[in-house]
Amino acid sequence: MSQLLSTSIEYLKGVGPKRAEILASELGIRTYRGLLHHFPFRYEDRTKFYKISEVNGDLPYVQLVGELIHVQEIGEKFKKRLVAKLKDDTGTIELVWFKGVTYFKKVLKVGEKYVVFAKPNIFNSKINLVHPEVETLIEHKNSVQSKLQAVYHSSEKLTKFALGSKNISRLMKTLLPQLKYKLDENLPLRIITEHQLLDRETALFNIHFPVSIELLKKSIARIKFEELFMIQLELLKLKLVNLEKSNGFVFGDIGEKFNGFYANNLPFELTGAQKRVLKEIRIDLKRGKQMNRLLQGDVGSGKTIVALMTILMGLDNGFQAALMAPTEILATQHYEGLKELLKGMDVSIELLTGSVRAKKRREIHAALESGTLDILIGTHALIEDKVIFKNIGIAIIDEQHRFGVAQRAKLYKKNTIPPHVLIMTATPIPRTLAMTLYGDLDVSVIDELPPGRKEIQTLHWYENKRLRLFGFMEQEIAKGRQIYVVYPLIEESEKLDYATLEEGYQHIFKRFPAPKYKVSIVHGKMKAHVKQFEMDRFVNGETDIMVSTTVIEVGVNVPNASVMIIESAERFGLSQLHQLRGRVGRGAEQSYCILMTGNKLSSDGRLRMKTMTATNDGFQIAEVDLKLRGPGDLRGTQQSGTPINLKLANLATDGELIQKARKAAFSILDSDPNLERMEHQNLRQYLGEKNRGKTNWSSIS
Ligand code: ADP
Ligand code: MG
Repeated sequence: MSQLLSTSIEYLKGVGPKRAEILASELGIRTYRGLLHHFPFRYEDRTKFYKISEVNGDLPYVQLVGELIHVQEIGEKFKKRLVAKLKDDTGTIELVWFKGVTYFKKVLKVGEKYVVFAKPNIFNSKINLVHPEVETLIEHKNSVQSKLQAVYHSSEKLTKFALGSKNISRLMKTLLPQLKYKLDENLPLRIITEHQLLDRETALFNIHFPVSIELLKKSIARIKFEELFMIQLELLKLKLVNLEKSNGFVFGDIGEKFNGFYANNLPFELTGAQKRVLKEIRIDLKRGKQMNRLLQGDVGSGKTIVALMTILMGLDNGFQAALMAPTEILATQHYEGLKELLKGMDVSIELLTGSVRAKKRREIHAALESGTLDILIGTHALIEDKVIFKNIGIAIIDEQHRFGVAQRAKLYKKNTIPPHVLIMTATPIPRTLAMTLYGDLDVSVIDELPPGRKEIQTLHWYENKRLRLFGFMEQEIAKGRQIYVVYPLIEESEKLDYATLEEGYQHIFKRFPAPKYKVSIVHGKMKAHVKQFEMDRFVNGETDIMVSTTVIEVGVNVPNASVMIIESAERFGLSQLHQLRGRVGRGAEQSYCILMTGNKLSSDGRLRMKTMTATNDGFQIAEVDLKLRGPGDLRGTQQSGTPINLKLANLATDGELIQKARKAAFSILDSDPNLERMEHQNLRQYLGEKNRGKTNWSSIS
């Protein structure tokens, strides 16, 4: 079968070398298989009939049925045209031909009933149909042709070479009969039955020539399932192979450090979600395979304590640990936070960043190599080659989206056996999407906030409330609170935004003058130590207002800061807005997030503001974000090892199907990891052809 499908498209009747070239360059179609998998992007519904009185110029196309009451040739020679009139019980409409005048004059019969189909056209403020498709009502009733007409993407070049949508349809009509009874099923029978899927051939045929809407829906569902299933199968396989290949340190015992911390230092009761995640991690660490786990948890959900307790499991088993953060500020906060939590315990901890002095740096390097240092916190400075651990067993990566896969790989080389890796992210990704983007990682979710948090109140204000905003700020400062004011900074227009920031800062500075008020400013163009100084002043409560760009986006923890003002909020994406909002609501006080926007908002912009004011739930926000941006955007952040190439399925909207497909794929691999069984041969063969042997289905022995 594969041979027929691999036939060059050139040899399909009606194609030939020139068109084959165009099909390849414009649509990437090179073979019969390519054409078969070139799917329509929409369908024209030929089951619907309009009344003539309903026709207006905005409709993309109409189908009418009526009696032909008039046919007349008008004009001379080169300006000849044929005008006919169609009548139904609501009115009449003109049909016009500029080409094929002689032919249509001959075949069209006054008094006969016709079905016509065309895009309505407005000429001299009257509606007519130019070059409609016509057939007699009898022909129409007898025609087996699908009443749902597939529409394929077209381009000027394609049309020029007679490869427009209609032509593609015609090629399909030539191709499909040749493939009848020859399209092998690629899903196991059990899966097909269990999920009540159409067989492959019926689905592929109906995608191009739907027999009914019903069957079309089922066909699309079947192909989507197939696409998602194959991806999940490959991802899960990859995970299995990785697991099989990788060795991991065994953290057998929970020991003195973990237990001591739990008994004496843990400042609060763990939430149910934190306990559950720790259990998941615990299982990973015992089984002798490298852990590769993604920990998702909304801002403030308490990921740090989970990280620390994971580190302690490592320490108890004689290993060192590293925690890597994306910025110096964050690394420093982690360092101070963890030092505080570990107070009174016999655990050594150091901070390594770009601004650590050479002498101190040498000390740290030496302590790491000799093994006297237990925990190293730092920026990516700590994956540099010259940083050598005596025996690192666990690495934690905070805010993973800032690290690339390559950097992760560098970490793996820090010991003879790769250390366990826990990646923490506060950017919630809808679970189903994570299954695909991080399909070869394990995912844990902290979906519960620590108790006693007051819900952050979010307001969306327009510029006309500026004075009220200043009044509100004054009020909160009088109560002893601190305030963030954030300006957008997008790289392409950095200069412009910097100006806005400066202007805003001056504005605030005037309205909140020293010495009564103190204002900090932080932006990306500052030297690191100046930034740190300004940041520290705010963290220590010495300043009331922090004016900044998004550098404070990740991680910074100032519990006394209870107001987040986001300027030009419409210029931020949803997940960024949510991240920023997460900087407040960390203390006992009622916190506020105020989104300031201009009056003119796009509909997307409005939806973003509405979503922010409606919910504090990061996962809900992520779902909306995904629907707004589409999954395409997320490809850049993709961490999985399998290319994601979907024609019909949509990672944003087909969540439920992804879940089903993953479960199905799991059930197959669970019983037959190398696809050796008879009933899985079709699957194996399909994947082999698809990937030309990229996934090695026999690599597990
Ligand atoms: P994130 O997940 O954003 O990194 P953190 O780990 O910084 O969150 O935790 C946010 C705050 O919540 C910290 O002040 C931390 O001490 C506190 N916290 C974490 N877990 C709990 C808990 N179970 N009960 C009470 N407070 C907690
Ligand atoms: Mg954090």
